[in-house]
Amino acid sequence: MAQRPVVLVVGGGYVGLYTALRLQKKLSRGRAEIVVVDPQPHMTYQPFLPEAAAGSVEPRHVVVPLRRTLPRCRVVTGAVTALSHAERRARVAPIVGQPFDLSYDVLVMAAGSVARTLPIPGLAEHGIGFKNVGEAIYLRNHVLARLDAASSTDDPAVRRRALTFTFVGGGYAGVEAFAELEDMARYAVTHYYPRLSPADMRWVLVEAMGRILPEVDLDMAAWTVKQLTARGMDVRLNTRLESISDAGLVRLSDGEEFASDTLVWTAGTKPNPVLAETDLPLDERGRIVCEPTLQVRGLPDAWSAGDLAAVPDLTKDEPGATTAPNAQHAVRQARRLADNIVLSLNGEEPVPYRHQYAGSVASLGLHKGVAQVYGVKLKGWPAWFMHRTYHVSRVPTFNRKARVVADWTLAAVFRREVISLGQLQDPRREFVAAANTGRAGQLPPPSPADRAQSGTAQAS
Ligand SMILES: Cc1cc2nc3c(=O)[nH]c(=O)nc-3n(C[C@H](O)[C@H](O)[C@H](O)COP(=O)(O)OP(=O)(O)OC[C@H]3O[C@@H](n4cnc5c(N)ncnc54)[C@H](O)[C@@H]3O)c2cc1C
Repeated sequence: MAQRPVVLVVGGGYVGLYTALRLQKKLSRGRAEIVVVDPQPHMTYQPFLPEAAAGSVEPRHVVVPLRRTLPRCRVVTGAVTALSHAERRARVAPIVGQPFDLSYDVLVMAAGSVARTLPIPGLAEHGIGFKNVGEAIYLRNHVLARLDAASSTDDPAVRRRALTFTFVGGGYAGVEAFAELEDMARYAVTHYYPRLSPADMRWVLVEAMGRILPEVDLDMAAWTVKQLTARGMDVRLNTRLESISDAGLVRLSDGEEFASDTLVWTAGTKPNPVLAETDLPLDERGRIVCEPTLQVRGLPDAWSAGDLAAVPDLTKDEPGATTAPNAQHAVRQARRLADNIVLSLNGEEPVPYRHQYAGSVASLGLHKGVAQVYGVKLKGWPAWFMHRTYHVSRVPTFNRKARVVADWTLAAVFRREVISLGQLQDPRREFVAAANTGRAGQLPPPSPADRAQSGTAQAS
């Protein structure tokens, strides 16, 4: 290995950021060069996305800038599109310009997961995921814009379609997004839309299994369904999305059809497909096969962790059990992984990763939540409070913690912010219209997509 080995970290999310943070702390500059490659210039603290969508936290505060946080690493903004570990070479597509090759000595593969979709007619054209900050901002603006649309029309069909919000997938990401956005919309309708009532809205959660929230016990999941139903939300278990038409007609496997302007897909994730373009060993689910030390099987200079890694779960007796794809493991694996890299650079033996899953916390809107941690079950306000204290203790950097707490405090004093900045969805529209008016003498008609997506509510 080179005198000053290059450690390439693919992905600057949970695993990538925490690994690089620890490596930059533990390895002096002359000891190794750390290169972090990510298409985004920031890490996203995904557990705060539902609160960002609901306007409780400023979206910029749920992301952690890589360049600021990793001053002793080289940050490359681009995507790794292929990798040959045999040649210790990764192909990088920067955000502009020609792809180039990066040579390295030690690899940390941490490119996470992507939405797991199904070939459902209309899903790719009309659905949206909920994994990044752009989607969270979009959905917030979109939901508020739908309230504006509904409040500004007398056509009952247009109004019903605008006020019907469909979510598919009842894991914690889906349930939190569903419950937080409904809570925000209910607040907005109650305070600022005198022509609408919360009963006019229809929020539908479609889940293929017989339960939601597989991370908590069945009684807690059933309690959550009861709470959501009591809020007037429609939770469909054992039901699948069959299709959505161009006219927004949603068809479910139980035979029901309804029109909806909003389709959010949160039905699970799969390992990043870039793994197929590498020579790393993959299991039948497309995850990287890892040893308990987080080394990639058979490749001592390659390491992996997080959503795309099959890491043996040493706390379980079942043969072949692997750790679940969640932040709790990602953060702890990243620390172990960084420490193991340092150990192996020093010629010492790496230590196996072992962590007993502590449980789950989920927010269901302001002052509402569900939690099960070390067997202790909490519901309502205590669970919500635990969700907030836990996540603020976990969000990286003091800077982000302080900003998130400031957001919560301001919202508590001045009420929550329910402004839709609909122009963010299509910022050039007005300018293009002005430029075209000069030429053609009239405004271009808005496209159907513009009509559905744009909105400029000033609801507070
Ligand atoms: C809405 C939501 C809420 C969640 N809430 C919780 C929760 O409450 N508790 C919990 O434990 N877990 C939660 N999770 C799950 C948790 O966020 C993930 O398990 C965790 O982020 C996994 O970390 P990771 O590093 O593997 O992936 P990520 O954090 O997703 O990081 C992957 C990184 O790789 C980058 N990348 C992608 N492709 C490439 C490429 N080709 N080249 C280079 N870089 C690339 C991405 O831009 C990203 O920055 C939630 C997830 C979501 C979506």
